[in-house]
Amino acid sequence: MDTAEIIRNFALDGNAVSVKPLGDGFINDTFVAVADSGRRYILQRKNKNIFPDVPAMMDNIVAVTEHIKGKVADPMRETLTVVPALDGKPYWEDQDGEFWAVTDFIEGSKTFDIADTPDLARQGGLGLGHFQALLSDFHKPLAEVIKGFHNIRWRFVQWDASIAADKAGRVKDLATEISWIESRRQRMLDFWKMVEDGILPMRVTHNDTKLSNFLFDAATGKVLCAIDLDTVMSSTSLNDVGDAIRSYANNTFEDDPDYSKVGIRFDMYEAYMQGYLSEVKDFLSDSEKEWLAFAPLYITYEQVLRFLMDYIDGDVYYKIKYPEHNLVRTRSQETLLESMEAGYDRMKEIVASLL
Ligand code: ATP
Ligand code: MG
Repeated sequence: MDTAEIIRNFALDGNAVSVKPLGDGFINDTFVAVADSGRRYILQRKNKNIFPDVPAMMDNIVAVTEHIKGKVADPMRETLTVVPALDGKPYWEDQDGEFWAVTDFIEGSKTFDIADTPDLARQGGLGLGHFQALLSDFHKPLAEVIKGFHNIRWRFVQWDASIAADKAGRVKDLATEISWIESRRQRMLDFWKMVEDGILPMRVTHNDTKLSNFLFDAATGKVLCAIDLDTVMSSTSLNDVGDAIRSYANNTFEDDPDYSKVGIRFDMYEAYMQGYLSEVKDFLSDSEKEWLAFAPLYITYEQVLRFLMDYIDGDVYYKIKYPEHNLVRTRSQETLLESMEAGYDRMKEIVASLL
């Protein structure tokens, strides 16, 4: 793959004079290209295994970023800008069938790897809330770039099939874990039914709300915009909050085998919700306000189910570092969910105090 050749297929301002890899992203391959005009660009090879329909995904990104541009003071810095290919499409397909896309490099920005202080959690919440606020009047349906994402009804279809197939012969040793899942099945389906029935409204969801997916202004230190828009879709925006809390507000890392360390940190929870709700409380529906505190439980449950299902399937989806890794992940996230269940009333009180 010759990135210097690939970048020539895009409508840059000037000609590219260098293309260099940037970091080591989990999903895509990312490069920085510099043009002779001095402008810099982000070039990415999109991961086809995760995103089967890159053209539809890029259409989503263009629709969402165009909408945001119409509403902000500095449209080139407050959202991504997709640079089209020379044929006008928002991506370019190479001879090997790989898809590439280019965005403007947002200068004077920085990212943080992890949210480890309440102040960063607050900024992360602000960033997500602001993104949702800018898109609160966006009503076009978006393509479903990953099928069944956060749809627990679909996950149970997969789950029931996994248990029935019992590919790795592990089901017999997992009675406790399986009944843990089953005892909460109906409660989780009831939540999802509110999405299906429109009680919880469809909004634009980001679906990868970790802190490194927000750019901060290097000069002011304030959160600037959401990036990494590959996974934008239409769903309940509560799940974006739930997923953020699952990672921001855990006392420790996702697969900590020392379960005594696992649990929700209320200082991080409160800070995130403070930032988030300061941006969204005026337009969230009553049903969203009512169910906001439940979303972290729903998302953590889904994650437990997915880890356990992968263990049952013989470790085919998540990369494992040791044989019991998926079982440890399962139990670690079970512990997190149990601490959220125990703290649910407190989470609801925190939400109520911020509305
Ligand atoms: P990951 O899976 O780790 O989230 P990814 O492959 O999805 O990574 P991105 O999140 O899109 O890739 O980008 C990786 C990093 O590149 C970002 O965290 C950010 O530091 C930088 N970056 C991406 N787009 C821009 C941009 N338009 N301007 C400036 N920096 C950017
Ligand atoms: Mg990212």
